Amino acid sequence: GTTTSTDPVHAVAEAALRRNAGEPEFHQALLEVLESIRPALDEHPEYLEAGILERLVEPERQVVFRVPWTDDRNRVQVNRGFRVQFNSALGPYKGGLRFHPSVNLSIVKFLGFEQIFKNALTAQGIGGAKGGSDFDPHGRSDAEIMRFCQSFMNELYRHLGEHTDVPAGDIGVGAREIGFLFGQYRKITNRHESGMFTGKGVGWGGAEVRTEATGYGTVFFVDEMLAVDGRGVEGKRVIVSGSGNVATYAIEKVHQLGGTAVTASDSSGYVVDDAGIDLELLKQIKEVERGRISEYAARRQGAHFVAGGSVWDVPGEIALPSATQNELHERDAIALVKHGVIAVAEGANMPSTPEAVRVFQQAGVLFGPGKAANAGGVATSALEMSQNAARQRWSFDDSEVKLRGIMHGVHRAAYEAAERYGRPGDYVVGANTAAFVKVADAMLAQGVI
Ligand code: GLU
Repeated sequence: GTTTSTDPVHAVAEAALRRNAGEPEFHQALLEVLESIRPALDEHPEYLEAGILERLVEPERQVVFRVPWTDDRNRVQVNRGFRVQFNSALGPYKGGLRFHPSVNLSIVKFLGFEQIFKNALTAQGIGGAKGGSDFDPHGRSDAEIMRFCQSFMNELYRHLGEHTDVPAGDIGVGAREIGFLFGQYRKITNRHESGMFTGKGVGWGGAEVRTEATGYGTVFFVDEMLAVDGRGVEGKRVIVSGSGNVATYAIEKVHQLGGTAVTASDSSGYVVDDAGIDLELLKQIKEVERGRISEYAARRQGAHFVAGGSVWDVPGEIALPSATQNELHERDAIALVKHGVIAVAEGANMPSTPEAVRVFQQAGVLFGPGKAANAGGVATSALEMSQNAARQRWSFDDSEVKLRGIMHGVHRAAYEAAERYGRPGDYVVGANTAAFVKVADAMLAQGVI
């Protein structure tokens, strides 16, 4: 409609919807945050006077570029590259790159917007950004991946720098891609600028625990939520979706804490293994062979594969959606609640639809939104930046202790903000308000820029 609301949140939301037509994921992320920070806005009229909301929903800079490359049959291919530098009030732009055919401006903007708040919650002094391409790495040779990454960096390099913008991985961007991207940046700039990228190999400036951090952190977060009333992951049956970096190391940490992770999935279906997912086999299939999840059931006694279907139909006490956005719908949430789920923590970014979140919260299920629950990945990226700046290398054990401490702090911040703003136990309100106030205060102090 064209009506102009007098409610400031509605007015900003309506203007943002008009200006960003046809971007459903970005709208979804925007509306969730704007609706949940009302209690903080009531206490801080100065934010509205300074136009914080209007500025917050508009990225500081958006770069969209052509990525031409030559495939193994010598044909020229063209993809689209993106980098959305959303907010740098708290530090240099920071956030991953996603290579997946679904990537478009809406996806990159929703991820960049979420990243602002996630990064604020880590308290590591990092702004929010995201990037990527609609390039599909699946089935491509290493040589094709390398040529694509080099072409992508031929444009992106001019927007990066250790004090400007520091990318990392996300879906479709792992150790291999980060190596090629970093190599091309070094070649173009003639600078071995370690701090301009995180997720690097540990032999050349990377940080211990960075690979494991998102999955580990998500399990630490769910353990923190349960610990509020003396419970924990120990002894729990855990349903995990996905089989990439986040899911893999979430499963590992569940097992280390004495729980049993019984599922993994990919776009073809899911596997159930009541004895607990065998991590070596999962890594062999997904990381080494880059194969399908059905292979897991074919090679493992007692496991079975379900083609298609929903992994959320499998009963368990904890659910860790760790695949992608909007993978857990209202009907899935209803199924999980029916089967007795007590806690959900998002390893992926925005995996639960708004309707699913409502089902969990109304049923009294502990719900940890991705901004808080999966913040361990980017927090450990910030540790990598610290080590690069100091030319140091911290041990695995020291780094994991730091990650655990940061996740404790993220949980505390979200928990306490929920109490303070009158919504005890609501980690959506807690995470969003705690993060928003930090960003808004910094923007307020730094003037209208
Ligand atoms: N892509 C990850 C995320 O969603 C990590 C970003 C980073 O380390 O910069 O937070």
